[in-house]
Amino acid sequence: MALQITDLVKRYPTGTEALRGVSLDIAEGEFFGLLGPNGAGKSTLIHCTTGLAQPTSGSIRVFGHDAIHDYEQARLAVGLAPQDLNLDWFLTVEESLDYHGGYFGMPRRERRERAKELLEVFSLTEKRDDRTRTLSGGMKRRLILARALMHRPRLLILDEPTAGVDVELRLELWHYVQRINAEGTTILLTTHYLEEAEQLCDRIAFINHGDIVAQGTSADLAAEYGVSSLEDAYLELVGRKELSRAHVGADAA
Ligand code: ADP
Repeated sequence: MALQITDLVKRYPTGTEALRGVSLDIAEGEFFGLLGPNGAGKSTLIHCTTGLAQPTSGSIRVFGHDAIHDYEQARLAVGLAPQDLNLDWFLTVEESLDYHGGYFGMPRRERRERAKELLEVFSLTEKRDDRTRTLSGGMKRRLILARALMHRPRLLILDEPTAGVDVELRLELWHYVQRINAEGTTILLTTHYLEEAEQLCDRIAFINHGDIVAQGTSADLAAEYGVSSLEDAYLELVGRKELSRAHVGADAA
């Protein structure tokens, strides 16, 4: 298993139970989608997996390595492309990759070779000496992806990689991530675009209020909700539920 999450609970100091016993298995080589409305617990799950948040209980294994108590190996196996463009605006493109590699303990020579290779793959070679702040939006997105891949993670986590990007750039990013997956990297994607999940993902899980409520292929999910598309299944999950809650509220008033 690339990622094995068992009975994961995360309660924030505020008392919010963001994850209420989540279990999720992602096989090696899979392209897996995590879908759910705002506040469902997606970021919390990613933060627990990447060591940015401490779970309250449960276990997380990344390629068999305990990501909570023995996180060194687990951390090396995961690359995160965060939602926000958190680049250091004073570094050059090449430095951004090099520093990241250094942070993950890669020797200098290996860093240089790997950076060269990624700059080539992501069409950033000509920009390698430019400061990151001068890049176009699309180049910044590509650099975020390249940086996440720098230390050769076996599991790549993409947190809403296409939020707010135009159609052309979205298609371009899809092309890159499909290629990365085809080359063997396991991918966990969160997105609000159902079409994106449908196109890219082998399997999808719906998360809502800190629970995984359904998972399978997009056809499985449609069948589970008795509808004909992933979009309708998702609407069953969020839309109709909210409508019915409003209805109950109106009755009670
Ligand atoms: P999503 O990524 O699906 O939008 P989050 O994981 O960000 O969901 O949030 C899940 C729940 O946890 C929400 O109710 C949110 O308000 C709460 N939450 C997230 N981060 C924190 C935090 N640092 N402290 C307290 N509550 C938080």
